[in-house]
Amino acid sequence: MSQDCLFCKITAGEIPSKKVYEDADFYAFHDINPAAPVHILLVPKKHVISMQHVDDSDAAWLGKMMVLATKIAHENGCRPGPEGGFRLVANSGVEGGQEIDHLHLHILGGARPWAKRAAPAA
Ligand code: AMP
Ligand code: ZN
Repeated sequence: MSQDCLFCKITAGEIPSKKVYEDADFYAFHDINPAAPVHILLVPKKHVISMQHVDDSDAAWLGKMMVLATKIAHENGCRPGPEGGFRLVANSGVEGGQEIDHLHLHILGGARPWAKRAAPAA
């Protein structure tokens, strides 16, 4: 845990959040400023700064995190299947638009907030 890290404090329960999932290694909660009808942040409890700070030794838990992201998406309002779906984003570093320096996946979904394709005819 990093003493000055907002997401470490959230996973430790020191700062309140709207939790959607927790296990020994991961914590997920609603983004405070949602950019989509579903906007959840999934973080490892371990303090890792960004995707620029992982290497081969991190592959196993990163793989688990990706699989977990799909499960959390589908259990929290993202429709499964090709006409539903969701977006996963991991902003990394200043030029990647990262504001909080604790690795996190944005899970964005709901009613096609970014859609360019028209919805299929009924
Ligand atoms: P990023 O720019 O990828 O680092 O994203 C950081 C995200 O954290 C933004 O979408 C913020 O809205 C979100 N955020 C910041 N503070 C909180 C908080 N206290 N609880 C929930 N989400 C937060
Ligand atoms: Zn942290």
